[in-house]
Amino acid sequence: MKTFACGDVVPGCSARFSAADEDGILAQVAGHAAHDHGIHDVTPELVQAVRDRIVSA
Ligand SMILES: [Zn+2]
Repeated sequence: MKTFACGDVVPGCSARFSAADEDGILAQVAGHAAHDHGIHDVTPELVQAVRDRIVSA
């Protein structure tokens, strides 16, 4: 199981995600970023920032 805390990338955000693998996390984060942060363009840099902060639970 992998987990990711959005607040590690976006200060002040309390959203947390968990999935079986990194791709599952990224899919959830993409939806969250669009809905809650107005980020509709998920750049390779953003994906890398998220991947760097995904931890195994
Ligand atoms: Zn967030």
